[in-house]
Amino acid sequence: KNILMWFRSDLRLSDNRALQGALKQLDLLNKEKAGTSSLFALFIVSTGEWQEHDASKFKVDFILRNVEKVAEKLKTFGVPLVIKTASNKKSVPNAVMEVCKLYHINEVYCNIEYEVNESKRDEKVKVLLMQNKILLKSYHDQCAVPPKEILKLNSDKPFKVYTPFKKAWMDVVYQNPRHLTLSNSLPSPSFRQPTLPSRYPCAFTSSIPKSADGFALSEEIQRTALELYPAGEVKARERMDAFIAEKLGNYKEDRDFVCKPGTSVISPYLTCGVISSRQCIDMAQKVNNGKLETGDPGAVKWILEIVWREFFRYILVAFPRVSKSLPFIPEASMIKWDEKDGHFDAWKAGLTGYPLVDAGMRELVSTGWISNRIRMTAASFLTKDLLINWQKGEAHFMRHLIDGDLASNNGGWQWAASTGTDPKPYLRIFNPLLQSEKFDPNGEYIRKWVPELRSVKSNKAIHDPFNRLQRDQFNQLGYPVPLVDHHKTKAKAEKVYGAAIHLG
Ligand code: FAD
Repeated sequence: KNILMWFRSDLRLSDNRALQGALKQLDLLNKEKAGTSSLFALFIVSTGEWQEHDASKFKVDFILRNVEKVAEKLKTFGVPLVIKTASNKKSVPNAVMEVCKLYHINEVYCNIEYEVNESKRDEKVKVLLMQNKILLKSYHDQCAVPPKEILKLNSDKPFKVYTPFKKAWMDVVYQNPRHLTLSNSLPSPSFRQPTLPSRYPCAFTSSIPKSADGFALSEEIQRTALELYPAGEVKARERMDAFIAEKLGNYKEDRDFVCKPGTSVISPYLTCGVISSRQCIDMAQKVNNGKLETGDPGAVKWILEIVWREFFRYILVAFPRVSKSLPFIPEASMIKWDEKDGHFDAWKAGLTGYPLVDAGMRELVSTGWISNRIRMTAASFLTKDLLINWQKGEAHFMRHLIDGDLASNNGGWQWAASTGTDPKPYLRIFNPLLQSEKFDPNGEYIRKWVPELRSVKSNKAIHDPFNRLQRDQFNQLGYPVPLVDHHKTKAKAEKVYGAAIHLG
């Protein structure tokens, strides 16, 4: 009786609920009959699934590098990681089945992925395995509190707004502290799986591809990726340790300042499951004397951001329409977008004439990551100033973000586009100029990412060079004229949105 641990978006060995389950079962089986059961691990390279989700090259590269780390670590315990390819979602059940047959697997362990298509895929895997008398055991792991646990509390009227959700989340955690308990999922250091019987094809040699078809990074970008996002659990923890030591205390004040990176940049690791949300909360809680909601304002604010992540996963489960390209507020599908020729391309290329937006869009393409403040500003600009459907922006972000995640990206886009969970009783429209002056006061961020503006010395003009420089000075910069006038488009957005949805 052998066991298979199927890794997906949980690329770590520590605090992994499914792996913990697999190891417990292995222990039981070997207690019953010593040395008769072995543990195998599986990762499926499915380019079709990545394409389906608009996964970025940054993300796929990061996944593959982390799979390699998982394989290395598993190997130290004598556990082989089998790499299987499946061209798309449909072929995943057979791919799992083939591995089960090859290695005489009786039970498959995995962590739940909450998206609608992933749930359907796993249901198909379950049925196929069951027909072959193989058990699929799936665990809640992606969130500290399983979304269904909160849904249960309020199933008639699921939460639509973050604050009451957060309260319910806290209540569940206080009542059941086990939600935050880390899983004992690392094999004990002395654990070494006995040499596998020779009838099994040697999975230790199954090589992890360095890149996947259609997802190869250019050499230059690959260098950036290796430098900015080193792979592995150890690196994720080091990043968290450094963030806690150097930035957590000021997180509340600094997080929005785009010129000084005051956030953790742990999102790529969370998205691929290289670190768990429990581990993150645990680390922040420890320096906050075990508290979640009181104590150091930086630690509290940061923990509450992790709860935002859980909120958007909850929304995905409670309102599956959001993962089917539908707006959270149904009437929002009536918004009459008014996209002008060339505007979407200019936004993508960072050529809107609004320096902060342009800096952000260029950073995104160059590094695969931008801060939350920039994400909100760029998203608001696309949807309210350019009146372009948020779904186009959502897809563009996914195609470039290293931390691209359906729940958080969709949640963030719909929030910024006012088609989602923002409870404001009026249409929230970011003023890109004020955002720029407030969060990049000296224009450092703009100068870093928009080289055409480096010669602009004035910290006032840098935010709005077209209106604040002499025309001939502006013309020499080679920087575009603003695509739109924010004040005019604001009024238009209010009209267009007002005709479709009633806010509040
Ligand atoms: P920190 O500020 O250090 O926060 C720690 C963690 O909390 C983050 O890593 C993230 O997991 C979580 N978090 C923080 N803010 C949010 C938030 N607003 N919503 C959900 N989780 C949050 N986040 C993604 O992980 N993937 C995405 O694809 C994504 N797309 C977004 C698109 C838009 C339009 C917007 C407005 C936000 C999006 N976010 C997304 C949320 C947020 O911007 C990022 O999680 C955050 O910027 C990551 O940086 P960090 O790790 O330094 O965050």
